[in-house]
Amino acid sequence: MDGHAIMVSFHLQGHIIPFVNLALKLASKGFSITFAHLDFVHQQISQSQRNPTQTDIFAAARSSGLDIRYTTFSDGFPLDFDRDGANFDQYVEYYRDGFPDIVDQLVAKILHSHPSTAASNYFLIADTFSVWPEKIAKRYGLVNVSFWTEPALVFSLYYHLELLRGKGHVPVDGRREMVDYVPGVDSINTKDFMSYLHDTELEVIHDVIFRAFDAVKSADFILCNTVEELEADTISALQQKQPFYAIGPLFPANNSIAKSLMPEADSADWLNSRPPGSVLYVSFGSLATTDRSVIHEIAGGLLLSEVNFMWVIRPGMVNSGGGVLPEGFEDTTRKRGLMVPWCSQNEVLRNPAIGGFLTHCGWNSILESVWCGVPMICYPLFTDQITNRKLVVDDWKVGINLCEGEGIINKEEVAEKIEFVMSEERSEELRQQMEKVRRTLENATSVDGSSNRNFDGFVEDVCHEIFRRQ
Ligand code: UDP
Repeated sequence: MDGHAIMVSFHLQGHIIPFVNLALKLASKGFSITFAHLDFVHQQISQSQRNPTQTDIFAAARSSGLDIRYTTFSDGFPLDFDRDGANFDQYVEYYRDGFPDIVDQLVAKILHSHPSTAASNYFLIADTFSVWPEKIAKRYGLVNVSFWTEPALVFSLYYHLELLRGKGHVPVDGRREMVDYVPGVDSINTKDFMSYLHDTELEVIHDVIFRAFDAVKSADFILCNTVEELEADTISALQQKQPFYAIGPLFPANNSIAKSLMPEADSADWLNSRPPGSVLYVSFGSLATTDRSVIHEIAGGLLLSEVNFMWVIRPGMVNSGGGVLPEGFEDTTRKRGLMVPWCSQNEVLRNPAIGGFLTHCGWNSILESVWCGVPMICYPLFTDQITNRKLVVDDWKVGINLCEGEGIINKEEVAEKIEFVMSEERSEELRQQMEKVRRTLENATSVDGSSNRNFDGFVEDVCHEIFRRQ
């Protein structure tokens, strides 16, 4: 195979992890890969001490014979520029207007650096949230592949933004109405739309999403980190429009190179000393944070429920010096609770001690939890997490809501939900359903399972398209 993929991920952890696993999977099929990160992302990953880094993973891949090159490029801002805080709007505007030229230069550089490879052998894999792929793929004659790291349902809602706007359902602006006209989506309440579709004031983000989903309509192929059997109708409706391949779940546990580098969880000894199914794992994703009052109520619920727990929490949230945990929380829970700033989540979820997962509903966390058969308590915060919750709780019935009153939580309700999920007897139905969905994921990734077949189909189609253009 002479195909060479240029892969440019979006800069957030939840996007980077599946991108890296996709790179490994493609390389194992014989493709050459050049994987590009922004300098500041590279620096963040290198300094985070969240091993293994991309550099480690790709070095291991190269020494096992895979052709993966890693490069970084600058977005033109200083490394320590605060892109998420006060400058967020400015950065999003730049992402929309200035980024296309930067990626253009990157692609030109990559193409020139391998003069022996014909330009027509290259293809581009960009995160669907990118506004630039259409222009760049056209300019250099590259096959244009879009990679969507969230569920097909979320893709479909963004894809039909114009329809939703036309019907007056976006922006949601506080309304609660059922929508039943999106192709392949049976029905969905507007309250379950992604957070970006609710606000009337996020003009720049709306514009970026709008442009990105306009641009994706010209992609040659779309890959999605989901499982066909779990979102069959939505996927089949999207396939009527464009070549769309469900190839998930893509995560390290499914990949021998990434898996071989996965550190044993620091918490392994602690977890191994707990009875099976007795520990609640609590995490709000790679940012490990949520509102301080929410943290206070969750801690209160953990106190009342008296369960064992392992909690990924930012050090600043833990007591001493302006913390938000209830008075005496650490002392009272010392014997049954472990708080860490970061962990190897895949490893933790696989530990038999884990009996439930209180999650923010990040898509990777959901896939990882289902993979390990761990039922979820859902507290989505924003973006796709709101819509992902619907899949987990309403559609697949493998999790419950942390609170029924939209976003307002209190420690008594938290304790009640925790006790329910952690009691094998009370949550038996949930666990049986989880086992069914877990098997669906397992089957999809088996040798002749849907995700592998779809991936092979994509490989064949992209090779055919590369060949056709030569
Ligand atoms: N993660 C991890 N350790 C942590 C917290 C998160 O390994 O302490 C990983 C987790 O396994 C998942 C990713 O970070 O693969 C988070 O992605 P997700 O889509 O769940 O949420 P996001 O961080 O994008 O909100």
